[in-house]
Amino acid sequence: MPSTQRTILTAVAWPYANGPRHIGHVSGFGVPSDVFSRYQRMAGNRVLMVSGTDEHGTPILVQADKEGVTARELADRYNRVIAEDLRSLGLAYDLFTRTTTRNHYAVVQEIFKGLYDNGYIFPKTTLGAISPSTGRTLPDRYIEGTCYICGYDGARGDQCDNCGNQLDPEKLINPRSRINGETPKFIETEQFFLDLPAFASVLGSWLQEQKSWRPNVLKFSLNLLDDLQPRAISRDLDWGVPVPLEGWVDRPDKKLYVWFDAVVGYLSASVEWARRSGDPDAWRAFWQVGPDGEAPAAYYFMGKDNIVFHSEIWPAMLLGYDGRGDKNGEPGSLGALALPHEVVSSEFLTMEGRKFSSSRAVVIYVRDFLSRYDADALRYYITAAGPETQDTDFTWSEFLRRNNDELVAGWGNLVNRAVSMAAKNLGEIPAGKDLTPEDEALLATSRGAFAAVGDLLDRCRFKAALAEAMRVVAEANKYVSDHEPWKLAKTDPERMATVLHVTLQVVDDAKTLLTPFLPFSSEKVFHLLGGEGTWSAMPELREVEDLDGGPGYPVLTGDYDQALARWESTPIEVGRKLEPPTPIFKKLDPSIVDEELARLGGEAA
Ligand SMILES: [Zn+2]
Repeated sequence: MPSTQRTILTAVAWPYANGPRHIGHVSGFGVPSDVFSRYQRMAGNRVLMVSGTDEHGTPILVQADKEGVTARELADRYNRVIAEDLRSLGLAYDLFTRTTTRNHYAVVQEIFKGLYDNGYIFPKTTLGAISPSTGRTLPDRYIEGTCYICGYDGARGDQCDNCGNQLDPEKLINPRSRINGETPKFIETEQFFLDLPAFASVLGSWLQEQKSWRPNVLKFSLNLLDDLQPRAISRDLDWGVPVPLEGWVDRPDKKLYVWFDAVVGYLSASVEWARRSGDPDAWRAFWQVGPDGEAPAAYYFMGKDNIVFHSEIWPAMLLGYDGRGDKNGEPGSLGALALPHEVVSSEFLTMEGRKFSSSRAVVIYVRDFLSRYDADALRYYITAAGPETQDTDFTWSEFLRRNNDELVAGWGNLVNRAVSMAAKNLGEIPAGKDLTPEDEALLATSRGAFAAVGDLLDRCRFKAALAEAMRVVAEANKYVSDHEPWKLAKTDPERMATVLHVTLQVVDDAKTLLTPFLPFSSEKVFHLLGGEGTWSAMPELREVEDLDGGPGYPVLTGDYDQALARWESTPIEVGRKLEPPTPIFKKLDPSIVDEELARLGGEAA
């Protein structure tokens, strides 16, 4: 247990509300952020985990048009679908909300005004694309052409996926609309820009101080500094947050750019959480330096395609709002806001050797996965074999192997052997007498794992942390096989009781060590060992009113303080009644591999 309680903001990337989540999405932002938050809560720290659906921008408009519904109707549908996907995976958000709330609009507009008042936002006339046949604006990412930097044919208007550079759409060679193939027409239009170059030096010094970040994230972020350009923050669009300036706020054709409003979501969701908690200022503890001079620690979780927003653009916005760029200034009315403590980015997950693609059916949606397999099986796979530090391929054969060999034959078997032998022979948790050096050694390994696994979790090294916890399971399985308690039942019942006592203590410890990764099965083990109450709390979907008079919506939230889980070894209670166990994991038939491969569309790679 840490001697002082830390205050931790877990800021989780906002899923875009244009479809259900697939397992690639949740392997990047979802499972890692939940493992981290669950551990921090168990360690006694104060955690606020927030996110929501990102609902503005052109892709939602285009898809809504295609389906003959309004943008709002489409966002309503996928907000609910995504919240349900995340709930069923057990992702324990304090608040998972959305960007179409009135609270969000107000906080976004406040950040804009703070930046504007400090001189970090300026208007500029630029060229914008329109579709000649419809007269509607054609957003950058719906323009395709040849990259004017590397010559790649298939670059998008805003970015080249080949060389990674941000692009000006009007400079693309041979530009064409991805919606209908026609050549876009570029016309003059006035937009607001964020003056990113005014933050290059302060961002540089800040990044240089970040010793704990993953090296790939830090290197990528430092490289971006060399070419910081002003970035457009408004768009010719009728779906988004209004620009909060006189002469602009009522214009139907100009809104803030979707990325600008989405990154403010971390703050607006914190404010919404505080307002719903009954203490409207409660968010400040997670964003501002406290009276003791302690800064809260904000951890941002995302896939690698989003690093630039979290290590560069959002920090620049916070610095500008605080008045800490080249042009100085004063903090806005919310007060000075803290920069990220750590930007935790995952690499990409591919599917059987191919990129995830909903349109080509190279995809497995979270809800489909969970209709056939348990949430902990997916959480285990993502942590043990996911893209923590390198691109990783999901294969069904590896999923089968990890589930059957590691979860079922490793951890599940240990629980099952220990509890069923003790239940059958003794009916309760036995006492241990005259412990041998081998008994003591196993107990010491198990107790010692709390410091080692906790340290790895605190440093966001989830894969290594899980391996360390599973090492305790492996040692305990070896101990049971070496001591063969089933043979001792007749020859030496007292020694059998001691071996089972030691094994059950280690099962109890391992259940605690595995709780951040496997909260559902840890809950079951807690009850198998006679525990009462809730060990590991789960999120709930609740219908709420908009706080400022807008339409109601569902949020994910939970009463996590009710959970009994603590990050420590506690002595098992001798004499607690034990019942014969039911298996905690499902063994999968090898035939599922071919069944699942047949569900994937297209040709195999
Ligand atoms: Zn290029």
